[in-house]
Amino acid sequence: MPSPEAEAVLLKEALFGVLAEDVKAPFPLPVYDNSAMDGFVLRAGQTERASSQSPARFAVRGTIQAGDAPGRALLKNEAYRIMTGACVPQGGDAVLAQEEARVKDGFLLVEKPLAKGTNVRRKGEEAEKGSQLLSKGAQIHPGVMGILASLGRERVKVYRKPRVSLLATGNELAAPGRPLPLGKIYDSNSSMVGAALRAMRLEPLCVRTLPDRLSAIEKAVGEALRKSDVLVLMGGVSVGEYDYVKEALSRHKAQTLFWKVSQKPGKPLYFARKGRTLVFGLPGNPWSVFMCFYEYVYPALRRLMGYGRPYLFSASLPTEASLKADSGKTLFLKGRISLRGGQFRAGVLTRQSSHMISSLGGANGFMVVPPSSKGVRRGEKVEAHFLPWLV
Ligand code: AMP
Ligand code: MG
Repeated sequence: MPSPEAEAVLLKEALFGVLAEDVKAPFPLPVYDNSAMDGFVLRAGQTERASSQSPARFAVRGTIQAGDAPGRALLKNEAYRIMTGACVPQGGDAVLAQEEARVKDGFLLVEKPLAKGTNVRRKGEEAEKGSQLLSKGAQIHPGVMGILASLGRERVKVYRKPRVSLLATGNELAAPGRPLPLGKIYDSNSSMVGAALRAMRLEPLCVRTLPDRLSAIEKAVGEALRKSDVLVLMGGVSVGEYDYVKEALSRHKAQTLFWKVSQKPGKPLYFARKGRTLVFGLPGNPWSVFMCFYEYVYPALRRLMGYGRPYLFSASLPTEASLKADSGKTLFLKGRISLRGGQFRAGVLTRQSSHMISSLGGANGFMVVPPSSKGVRRGEKVEAHFLPWLV
């Protein structure tokens, strides 16, 4: 597997990428002592003997707003009105909350002792300068964006997004939006896998539909191999007379890593590499394409994106229906995982054949039934894989 490469990108382009650097605090957090409340900043020591009979008295000298640079130091018996987030002036060490303050004739009257540090966010209390806040390999979610922005970062090092090309093959394919002559079907795979890539925030380099003609496939494969990290072909990898994908790849001296997996759907799945480019040949039936994408291509892409957990989340869940097993192949079933009574449950959808995707609308996971003679009875546990929109 080629290892992920790092590059510096603008923060807004980094969402759901993976950090390729450890991020340390470039300054203490907070960077200066500041007020946690709207109120009055003063010296706590001067309230030591304050009581309602003899309140401590402070002359209110002005207002320090959030954003003001620290002005002159606070002198004895002085206070400033101060706002949340505003710099605590030198000499000030406590803030009396607005709600507790009594001001009379320009004087603040404090009726009980205030402990030093009250309502003050101390410089460095959250993190010392140089302490590590984020680690290489972390997913950049909106919370991470917030951290990076709070450190003043405009760019961040992430693992470079893989360049992915998509080629669908089949004489029968018609583009959605056009009329559908007899004998043709709409090309659903290109849109489906294109969308799956975009959902990973990967914009495919190219999406093309090709006829079942060796010369055309060979040419398109050559171009895609040159510019892509991952090439995904759909259709034409089976044993049919017009299945030219493997031949086209062998003409480009791609090295076959495997062909055929004992699974259903997606048995003729093909995997090869040419230099650094990974090549997936997905059997063209749409359910095979969908399953093989999420079980094989998705983890490879995530690994290239730097994710430490490349595979779909999986859990062993009670099944809502009995599931028949195949004696020789691992079965993947379109499934719906639901949460009821605090427990995730695995439901299986209808219309499971490999050419059918009309029940995929309700799918948020796969059920995986290993080869056996027995199958899985209702209520027993089955391995469930969570599609990315479930979690
Ligand atoms: P193949 O893998 O080329 O033998 O195709 C297997 C089945 O999938 C055939 O019924 C094809 O018509 C269908 N198929 C292939 N490519 C697509 C596609 N892009 N969109 C929808 N169905 C497809
Ligand atoms: Mg075909």
